[in-house]
Amino acid sequence: MDNECIFCKIAEKKIPSYTVFEDDESIAFLDINPLFKGDCLIIPKKHYETIIDAPDKTVRNLFSGVKLVSEAVKNGLKSDGILIVVNNKVGQEIPHLHVHVTPRMKDKKIRGFLWPREKYDDEKEMQEYASRIKSAIDSLTLKK
Ligand code: 5GP
Ligand code: ZN
Repeated sequence: MDNECIFCKIAEKKIPSYTVFEDDESIAFLDINPLFKGDCLIIPKKHYETIIDAPDKTVRNLFSGVKLVSEAVKNGLKSDGILIVVNNKVGQEIPHLHVHVTPRMKDKKIRGFLWPREKYDDEKEMQEYASRIKSAIDSLTLKK
């Protein structure tokens, strides 16, 4: 637990939240400033800043929760779809790993988000990006 962290305090029930789900490792609650009403945040109860900092087991448990909360938001709020977002460092306001699970309705557009898109110069450049990521995956999986 990080003493200054709002989400640790929510996980420890030291500050209130509208909790919708919890198990031993994760807790999900309403975002106080939702993109759309019903916007949920799900977090590991232990403090990790980003997805890279958290152990694989914690991430697996977190994403089982993401699936459950997504289905509950879809069924409970009759949403047409679900937006799932994790900001890591850049764009991350609260430095405690959290997944946004947001209801999406076909007729409610979002502006200024996930844009602009970049264009690859050509196939060669696209291939270069793929091989840089693939080499990094090889190094990471060799380490394990
Ligand atoms: P981020 O920008 O870090 O991806 O998202 C952090 C989210 O946490 C924001 O959407 C913000 O509205 C939400 N948030 C910040 N403080 C609190 C709080 O005290 N309680 C709840 N329920 N949500 C919070
Ligand atoms: Zn924390």
